[in-house]
Amino acid sequence: MINALVVTKDEESGKTSASVEAIDESRLPDSEVVVAVDYSTVNYKDGLCIGPGGGLVRNYPHVPGIDFAGTVEKSTDDRYKPGDKVVLTGWRVGEAHWGGYAQKACVRADWLVPLPKGLTTRQAMAVGTAGLTSMLAVMALEDHGLEPGHGPVLVTGAAGGVGSVATAILAKLGHEVAAVTGRPETAEYLKSLGASQIVAREELTEVSRKPLEGEAWTGCVDAVAGAMLGRVLKQMKYGTSVAAVGLAGGAAIEGALITPFILRGVNLLGIDSVMQPYKNRVRAWERIASDLPMDHLDAMIQNATLSDLPGLGADILKGKVRGRVVVDVN
Ligand code: NDP
Repeated sequence: MINALVVTKDEESGKTSASVEAIDESRLPDSEVVVAVDYSTVNYKDGLCIGPGGGLVRNYPHVPGIDFAGTVEKSTDDRYKPGDKVVLTGWRVGEAHWGGYAQKACVRADWLVPLPKGLTTRQAMAVGTAGLTSMLAVMALEDHGLEPGHGPVLVTGAAGGVGSVATAILAKLGHEVAAVTGRPETAEYLKSLGASQIVAREELTEVSRKPLEGEAWTGCVDAVAGAMLGRVLKQMKYGTSVAAVGLAGGAAIEGALITPFILRGVNLLGIDSVMQPYKNRVRAWERIASDLPMDHLDAMIQNATLSDLPGLGADILKGKVRGRVVVDVN
């Protein structure tokens, strides 16, 4: 028997409920690699899958957990053998497929990445999808010309998971980081991660009808979208880029005009971590191992167990989780 967080749905009311259950291992999906899970984490999507589902979960009962790290126990694929340390993020694991909120998982070999040298499975889950996505965003900005020394890089939703890791990586790479937060009490935390400037959320949430605003930012990692992304695009310096990662503030880009693109050559770069090709995933994990200061990562961690997940899932949907949660599933 293995412990797992199982979400069930009442067909009549449509309501879901989540609790820790001991389940028989034979209930795991039939796939190529069985992993003894050490740790998982909590992302915004996990909040949806633990709770209302958000259209992401296909079948109930369901085991959520979009990320996990652990040790291979059995494998029918030559690339992995028992004892190998592995990480999984994305591929709709924890949504359409059973995920990492259990002591074991069974997944396709293609979905796994070897644990990068220099990281423990706990650190890998402190990074998780949120951190991988931050690194992919930074890499995309660099591929489009971002270099230190040309002015501040803006990070929105900075005290959240994606924002915290992006702040720490950019600061370590020598960038001046301006962190946007709606939680003024996180200012010291954000400065400890390397932010040199705190921008109040309210400064960027009013929709502007102006075609352009003063040029302020040399790059941006945006986890918020909504009115904030509409404003930020108009404040980008000539020829710079915004990496659009999330939609914590809404799925539309409110007040957006074409002017920043055609008058300032601003780029809007879409970042997806879920279907990211293997080669770029490995490159991003290697960059995380080299460019994310581990003492800063430790400062972001909140420890949790499987039984804490229903509460944490609700908290992350309300924007109340600071930094990264590491879930010890054992
Ligand atoms: P978190 O909840 O940890 O962080 C989101 C942060 O956004 C909050 O902490 C808050 O930051 C800010 N925020 C929340 N609500 C609002 C609002 N209404 N207006 C403005 N700011 C707001 O989530 P994650 O960091 O895990 O994920 C962030 C986003 O990125 C989500 O939308 C998620 O779905 C998406 N995502 C996308 C991925 C991809 O592959 N593209 C992968 C991972 C995540 P503060 O308190 O500092 O203001």
